[in-house]
Parts: sequence; structure tokens; C-alpha cells
Amino acid sequence: MITRFAPSPTGPLHLGHAYSAMVAHDMAVEKNGTFLLRIEDIDQTRARPKWEDQICDDLTWLGLRWPAPVMRQSDRISVYQKYIKTIWNKHLIYPCSCRRKDILAATSAPQESAPLIGPDGVIYPGTCRGRTAQTDPIPTAAALRLDMTKACALAGVSSELAHTAGDIVISRRDMGTSYHLSVVVDDAAQDVTDVVRGKDLEDATPVHILLQILLGLPTPKYHHHKLIRDENGKRLAKRDDARALSKYRAEGATPNDIRRLVGLPEV
Ligand code: GLU
Repeated sequence: MITRFAPSPTGPLHLGHAYSAMVAHDMAVEKNGTFLLRIEDIDQTRARPKWEDQICDDLTWLGLRWPAPVMRQSDRISVYQKYIKTIWNKHLIYPCSCRRKDILAATSAPQESAPLIGPDGVIYPGTCRGRTAQTDPIPTAAALRLDMTKACALAGVSSELAHTAGDIVISRRDMGTSYHLSVVVDDAAQDVTDVVRGKDLEDATPVHILLQILLGLPTPKYHHHKLIRDENGKRLAKRDDARALSKYRAEGATPNDIRRLVGLPEV
């Protein structure tokens, strides 16, 4: 068994991250498998080396161990580009120049109900769909989106994803990849057998399975664990500094205190 924890180094780890990492770690250890750490830093405008250092420090303090070298997504853009090209060659991708505000304006006509939300936020209304002229090289000044209806048809899966996820972004403008594409490519590259992550990413899983089919990659087992919430029932976010692991550490908590706080057995 190979599991992984794949944080984005855009802020401190909080109790929710600690829980996710420990569940993935414990699962691998129990099966004499391997637990991996992967740094998901494709958003270089938000990723910071200091957060990466702190993540490693916090996880080590929790008692987690992983093999070196650690995979860092920012080192792998050229690999992602090859996979994007594979999908591009199947005529399933189109460039999209819509800004966030264009998408919101197009989806919030007053007579309509609230815009539908998918794994990428508001479901893309399809404004640029049809711009499928195959250029070479692939455009980089625009985002690239997957034509979901066509992709589902080619993969032989239900077209429901066209409504529940819509035309998700395969490559963000000036980034050369996207969360969905990178995570699928890397889970396969690292032979991850069991993806352990929170229920907040449950909607993304059918999208990832579709990408695996399109790219000829294996589908791992997916486990979606509970989310750690604050006393008001709100899911913890990166900016919840009050729940940052470093804060508990500074206050003298032990790793077993953290385990107890999130409902895991002590070790
Ligand atoms: N990098 C993602 C995050 O920070 C997690 C990716 C995953 O587990 O699939 O939320």
C-alpha cells in the first residue's frame, strides 16, 4: 500500500491537515506500506518555501516519516504538459479567456437561481466552448478547459459530470497545469494505491477518475475522511491560525494531545 499527504505550502498546517496526514500515515503503517509527502506548489504566486519548511517540521514533530526525495509539483510542469498534450490531441480541450467576473456575470442572470457549484467553484457556463481549433503549440496565454460532455462520451462514462462539474480547468493561465491534472498524473507516477483525503474533495474524485481513463492511468482506491470543524461547525481553513499546529506546539501540546483532539488513537 502507498498513501500520500499532498499539502499546498500556502499557509500553516492546522488540525484538519494534521488529521488527514495522520490517517494516511496510519493506514500505510498498518499495512507495512509507504506513506509519501508531496508538495503541491503549482500556484507559485501563493506557495512559499517557509510554509514548506514548516509543514515538514510539523509533520516530523507529529511522528510521521516519509522517504526522500519529496516530489514537488513545481518541478514537474513539463511532465504535466505532455499529459495535457495527450488530451489536447483527442480534441477535448479548448482555450478559455474568461475572467472570474465574466463567469460570475454569465451565471448570475437575475431570473435564474443561484449558480451551481462544482469542484472548481461556479460551474463554467461554456462561453468559450467550441473554440477547439487545434493549434500547435497549445496556447498558454489562456486557461485550457476540458469539454466535459465530449470527454465523458469518449471515456464511456455517464455525462452527469457535465452538470455536476462542468468544463473544469486542465491548465490555468500562465501556470501550465491545474490541480486536477497534476494530482492525477502524480498519484500515478508515485504508484499511490490509496488516496486518503477529506470529504471536501469528494466531488473532485469522479473528475480524477475520468482523467485517469482519458490518460490511460490506473485508478487508486479513494477514501474520504471526515472534516475537522471548529466549535461552530465550520470547516477549518488555512487562515484559521488559531488551529495552526504550530500554535498548539508553542503552547506545549504533545503529538498525542493532537491525536486525541481529532479523535485518533494515541500511539
Ligand atoms: N493539494 C490539495 C490541498 O491542499 C490536496 C490534494 C489531494 O489530496 O488530492 O487541498
